[in-house]
Amino acid sequence: MPKLKSKKDISGIETSGKILKAVLDELEKAAIPSTKLAFLDRLAFDLIKSYEAKPAFLNYRPEGAKKAFPASICASLGPVVVHGIPDGRALEKGDILKIDAGVNYKGYFSDSARTVIVGNECSAEEKKLVKATEEALYAGIEEVIPGNRLGDIGYAISSVADKYGVSVVDGLAGHGVGFAPHEDPLVFNVGRKGTGSLIEEGMVLALEPMFSLGYPDILELPDGSFKTVDGSVTAHFEHTVAATKSGPRILTS
Ligand code: MG
Ligand code: MG
Repeated sequence: MPKLKSKKDISGIETSGKILKAVLDELEKAAIPSTKLAFLDRLAFDLIKSYEAKPAFLNYRPEGAKKAFPASICASLGPVVVHGIPDGRALEKGDILKIDAGVNYKGYFSDSARTVIVGNECSAEEKKLVKATEEALYAGIEEVIPGNRLGDIGYAISSVADKYGVSVVDGLAGHGVGFAPHEDPLVFNVGRKGTGSLIEEGMVLALEPMFSLGYPDILELPDGSFKTVDGSVTAHFEHTVAATKSGPRILTS
């Protein structure tokens, strides 16, 4: 059962989310050619600590995962969709980097991700993919309204993928968030209008469209990251959003 959040909880998660936004802004600025992924991770750790918060992903072991995650951010390159472990690899112009991070501030958890085009140079197809994925996130967010259903979110997200001719990655989904990094319910990136669980006031959801330029199929690598089977490039954007009486409230922007 999803845990509903009070106004006080939502403002706590928003404080956590504002820290996360500030951290992601700095990471995005630092994600330029020759920056090492491990440097971005260290920077994230130091910045999150400077706000007297904790990196929510560090040592976190999601249900079903073989090992705890060893870093403060997920840094996923090219065909890797999520859960990439930041290592000594240096970024190159044209890399499509997904940075995903979580913050725990006084027990309130936020989750957000962005795709960065390193050096701001990539193919027109890749630019389209990144644009589509970001647009889909906001289309999904518009559906986070009490009385709507989770299928409305999935429908909105997948409709944007269809419009751009890109694939919704199979087998990965958004989720509830707020008192823990991952909570019920799962929020699928595909769905049918008017189906699925009811969205209630006080639900806080991490919406996270993940799209690929090729086939939707993914596989898990031994390090716990997920990549496309066909090696096609992926993009990922994520915000933590509250369903309130006055509509969707983005808590990580
Ligand atoms: Mg995330
Ligand atoms: Mg998430």
